[in-house]
Amino acid sequence: MAIRKVILIQPRRDGRFFGRGLSEPYTLMRLASLVPSDIPVEIWDEDLRELPIHTLGPQDLVGISAKTLLIDRAKLLTKRIQRQGAPVVIGGTHVTLVPDEVEPWADAIAVGEGYRTWPQIIRDFDRGALQKRYVDEEWAPLDARVATLQDRVLRQVDEHRNYWTPYLEITRGCPRNCTFCTAVRVSGRKMRLRPVDEVVAEIEQRRLKRFFLTDDNFGLNFRLHPAYMEELFRALAKLPLHGWTCQAEQMVADFPDLLDLAREAHLDKFFIGFESINPANRKELGGKARGEVARYDEVIRAIHKHGIGVVGLFVYGFDHDTFETFRAARDFIRASELDSVSATILTPYPGTVQRQELEAAGRILPHPAADGDGLSWARYDTNHVTFVPGSMTVEELTEAYDWLCKELFHPRQMAVRGLRAWRRHPISRAATRFVSSFSTDIGYRREFEHRYR
Ligand code: SF4
Repeated sequence: MAIRKVILIQPRRDGRFFGRGLSEPYTLMRLASLVPSDIPVEIWDEDLRELPIHTLGPQDLVGISAKTLLIDRAKLLTKRIQRQGAPVVIGGTHVTLVPDEVEPWADAIAVGEGYRTWPQIIRDFDRGALQKRYVDEEWAPLDARVATLQDRVLRQVDEHRNYWTPYLEITRGCPRNCTFCTAVRVSGRKMRLRPVDEVVAEIEQRRLKRFFLTDDNFGLNFRLHPAYMEELFRALAKLPLHGWTCQAEQMVADFPDLLDLAREAHLDKFFIGFESINPANRKELGGKARGEVARYDEVIRAIHKHGIGVVGLFVYGFDHDTFETFRAARDFIRASELDSVSATILTPYPGTVQRQELEAAGRILPHPAADGDGLSWARYDTNHVTFVPGSMTVEELTEAYDWLCKELFHPRQMAVRGLRAWRRHPISRAATRFVSSFSTDIGYRREFEHRYR
């Protein structure tokens, strides 16, 4: 069967926020760029518009990328698309973690990163030989220019008009193995690096002024690859960037010279996984955090000294957490100089050590699909309790989390954090820092509010 076009779909999550999407479909942009240029390709983002599924037919190949939280929506869309006669390939993190669960309802599944298998899937469909399962077993070498963005894809996505914050990837992987994290299975333990000249070329091609790095743990490269980081920062410093943000861990504070270079490279703030303020949880934190709040304060101060902001990421519901942990977290965060803060509930994602342990102990809460067909993952959004906690009941953990979020995201508390950020900067940057702190808090408050939708 000759292929008519390829459609790549990002299922709905947030809708538009003041006219634009919150999550750019960056992975889909790269996969779309692997489609041969003689085949039309379109990216459909359900956050931006109603999907014209009625226009699809048997000669169209549809790919849906979904993380665990969005897999229910992906399944619903798949059923509608299949009624049009178009086959649907499911890729993304969820199918990579639990392929057997998705395979029965998809026409094909793409397990793994897909840079090798996606072109093969297109070829197979074009010759009428689509297989059921494609497994990309090797981690793509990011130094080999995989999936360079095509101009036709960028024109179509029109990212500056349609999205608040463009995404960019510079490194991938994380050698840590936090028991609750999927990164090892999805991105691999080896840290992979894109060539600096390729990163610069992509920023210039996309005319980026701001971006958020999707890298699992960019900051770990301060220790693992300091020479690479220096080269990268020196190159970014020459670009007319307004600012960018990335995920990191506390040890970046121990590299003052690199922090200076990072600031010169227009780095605005780190999102740092402090994870827990309860030292009893340290075994589950993969060695990067110990629940020691005095150290957290030192880290925040040390990074601020270089003009870089700190967003604190915290997870609740570890086995040793009690209501006292929540109260202590509230007090620490209020007194801290954090620019913004995120609060999530521990979520036992498939494929994690944590889920295996909870399953073995019979502590995963049942989550059947409403139609009785398989499982529903809609509550795996880090805002719902999905397992039996160690030291609280499900209701107590839910109540404590609600209480904490209402405390942290009260408009007065968000304003206090914004004003502190304002105070720390020269007048030329103060207003931007206030807006940046406040808008990040608003984003995390919206995440919390998903509980009530
Ligand atoms: S350090 Fe971060 S990215 Fe790495 S395994 Fe732990 S939570 Fe995941």
